[in-house]
Amino acid sequence: MKNMKNEEKKEIEQVKEPDKTEITGKECGKQAFEVDRRSVYKCVQCGTCRSVCPVFDVVGWESANTRGRMLIIKSLIEGRSPSEDVLSSLASCTTCGICASKCPAGANPPEVVEAARTQLVKCGITTGAQDKLKSGVLTHGNSFGETKSRKHWLSKSELSKLPEKSDYVYFVGCFDSYRYPEFARKTFGVLQRFGVTLLPDEQCCASPLLRTGFREDAEKVMERNLEQIRKVGAHTIITSCAGCYTTLKNNYPEELRVISLPEFLAEHLEQLNLKKLDLVVTYHDPCHLGRHNKVYDAPRKVIQAISTLKEMKNIKENARCCGGGGGVRIGYPDISLELAKNRLQDVPEGVDYIVTSCPLCVRNLRDAGGDIEVIDIVELVAMAME
Ligand code: SF4
Ligand code: SF4
Repeated sequence: MKNMKNEEKKEIEQVKEPDKTEITGKECGKQAFEVDRRSVYKCVQCGTCRSVCPVFDVVGWESANTRGRMLIIKSLIEGRSPSEDVLSSLASCTTCGICASKCPAGANPPEVVEAARTQLVKCGITTGAQDKLKSGVLTHGNSFGETKSRKHWLSKSELSKLPEKSDYVYFVGCFDSYRYPEFARKTFGVLQRFGVTLLPDEQCCASPLLRTGFREDAEKVMERNLEQIRKVGAHTIITSCAGCYTTLKNNYPEELRVISLPEFLAEHLEQLNLKKLDLVVTYHDPCHLGRHNKVYDAPRKVIQAISTLKEMKNIKENARCCGGGGGVRIGYPDISLELAKNRLQDVPEGVDYIVTSCPLCVRNLRDAGGDIEVIDIVELVAMAME
């Protein structure tokens, strides 16, 4: 656990002792379980996905691989009552999407899993970890249940100078606000020169709610962010979190132009005037930035403007998941860490840093230990601006 701060170590200990998975609520009746049948029946159970599902790779049970999850969902829509096994099978999918990219039948298992989770939530069937996530977001506006101000990382004078109107909003996200405020400070420092502002009362983007099935609650949270975005008058939202990015881009109304920090940086490389550093780095593609949204080139363009890029073993469409997404980090921390350790096996020899562009990937890969420091792309950019 080299390079790990005390705060990070403390959080791993907390995460290692999650609430027990408890099934609560009434049974889902046959009529109640509504998942688009066409998507479910697309799966012809060929098993191609078994060789790529990172959770199956660690757990080894049929119920923990894509095909098993699809079979379970099929049985639910055909009338089976959910059990604890059903919940743990569905809740342990990281929604990494590698199965969808390999499926010869064109099935989209993470989409089906999310729809099934929504149905379980509708029936009142949730895990303690999911309930905790939901309560943090609904009560405090963030997935950690933190009570301090989301903008605690800004000074009073910086706060007072935030423009009320702007074409650009920097959407910070829960992770950078509360776990990596230094990333938020650096990102804001870079973006300020382009006249960016922050939302007056940013809330969680709602990704943790959507991924774990709390769709109705997510809609209320999204509306609160949307009202503020409209008030600020922004036409572009910039975010440095892959989870926020995919949610803002794909779950919010289409009127928004959402751009990831690497894309924004790649578009403005000339204005940034970055120094070339004597560093060799590798890049981990976050699933929700890469596979889900095909943002592969922009981070590489930024990295190559600063340093030498040495690729990992599995990249882009084939990148292995860090294990942090889909609520798995909080619900199944041991599985999550094993996935991160597996991903570290893909790191090539002779690199100074593992760079990524998602704070959740930073956290999970750091937690897995390893000898190479994991940094966010904004830290590399900040080094090249010093
Ligand atoms: S999800 Fe696709 S790859 Fe997996 S078993 Fe079903 S058809 Fe095959
Ligand atoms: S999205 Fe990832 S974790 Fe979930 S079933 Fe597919 S391969 Fe497995």
